Amino acid sequence: MNEDLRNQFFAESIFHLVKEKYSELTDGCFSTSSQARHKVLAGIVMTRGFDLRSAQVVSLATGTKCLDSDNVSDHGGTLSDCHAEVVSRRALVRFLYAQLELLLREPADSEEQSIFVPNKGGGGFRLQDGVLFHMYVSSSPCGDARLNCPYETTAAYPSRRFHCHLRVKVDGGEGTLPITAPMANVNWTGAAPGKPPVTMSCTDKMAKWSVVGLQGALLSHLVEPVYLHSLTVGTLNHTGHLGRAMARRLAPVKNLLFPYRRQQLLLGCLNSSEVRPTGKAPNVSMNWSRGDGGLEEISTSTGRRKDSGTPSQLCKRSMFARWQRLQQQFNAADTTPGTYSASKMTAGRYQRAMQQFTSAMQAGGLGSWLRKPPELGHFNVSV
Ligand SMILES: [Zn+2]
Repeated sequence: MNEDLRNQFFAESIFHLVKEKYSELTDGCFSTSSQARHKVLAGIVMTRGFDLRSAQVVSLATGTKCLDSDNVSDHGGTLSDCHAEVVSRRALVRFLYAQLELLLREPADSEEQSIFVPNKGGGGFRLQDGVLFHMYVSSSPCGDARLNCPYETTAAYPSRRFHCHLRVKVDGGEGTLPITAPMANVNWTGAAPGKPPVTMSCTDKMAKWSVVGLQGALLSHLVEPVYLHSLTVGTLNHTGHLGRAMARRLAPVKNLLFPYRRQQLLLGCLNSSEVRPTGKAPNVSMNWSRGDGGLEEISTSTGRRKDSGTPSQLCKRSMFARWQRLQQQFNAADTTPGTYSASKMTAGRYQRAMQQFTSAMQAGGLGSWLRKPPELGHFNVSV
């Protein structure tokens, strides 16, 4: 088999694994199929090397919407960005937490072996050799990768001028606009006055993951960066745009401090033409991590569980509590509890890599990366 065919076969296999797992989780779980309806499905598959026999789906998500502005008094209890790609990353992080928790149990308690091993010398943990992650997303990620496609709701915008530009999600996450300076001069349709949108497009978030990893700032205190190795896109696939957005834009990001690196993403597309589901996008986003009995359903108008109105298992607050427990158990000597924001900012090497990434984008004239107001992260969790 030549390399192109092998890549094609691999991409198709990742797609089928994610799709089958989603069907398995939605079959019989819902009395009507309306909840199973989705516009965009994303999932992450773990393999050992590129051996498909070892492949396991470890996270899944659906969703296309986001809250236009965060509720400042929320203390990390809502999910503001419910795009499938972004939620599937959060669900992967939950899986990674569970894998670290496995290390704390007696080997006899569990047949399963953690994917993490202690890091020789450096402290903390790293993935076992050969553990790779692959993402499937049913539709091109919003932002630069989706430009010039008929579904881009802001297609009327002079996109050529802002080729490769960083973009933010607007209109409840159903469109994007390039970041222009100064931000204040832009008339943000759909956003509350005085509260400009601060959610970066999925294309931009995925570019960031290729530099800083998928694990996020908190988990980088405990593990070496975890990168995506391949990305398979279903419908609306423009390999050229994707390649430009993901790889060429990142070329100026250099001299990252070990263990950070610029991870080249293998881009896959499907031969079979999946049809993008028609109709209105549902106001729900589903998520699942390996080990869960079923899907969690989030209302995209509140960013909370649809059934109970309580915070999602993926919200900042819940992840922060889990991180603090692990941090206390692994690094007992260093357990000064800080706020969520402070704990993220003290992840030195991660923040340095993030800085190198955003500086390179800015130096290339692609706009400034927008961060959420820091006061949103000023909360503590007692564990
Ligand atoms: Zn998106």
